[in-house]
Amino acid sequence: MSDVKAEIDARICTGHGRCYDLAPEIFAADDEGYGQVLIDDIPAKFEALATRAAQTCPERAISLGPSEEEQGVA
Ligand code: SF4
Repeated sequence: MSDVKAEIDARICTGHGRCYDLAPEIFAADDEGYGQVLIDDIPAKFEALATRAAQTCPERAISLGPSEEEQGVA
């Protein structure tokens, strides 16, 4: 119910890999080493991890927001 959505801005991700090193449950490397999001709606149990990963990204390329489910009509 409190799912969060993560997005990586591919225009500013430089492929440091900190996100997928820190949170492989949520992020992975693409073929070129840039970060990609593995799961659309991050379950509550991974929210703190997602937040840490976003804070750890040197480029601030990761944004977290409410999932589409959360944004949907109540
Ligand atoms: S830590 Fe940031 S810059 Fe590095 S791969 Fe992940 S999103 Fe990209």
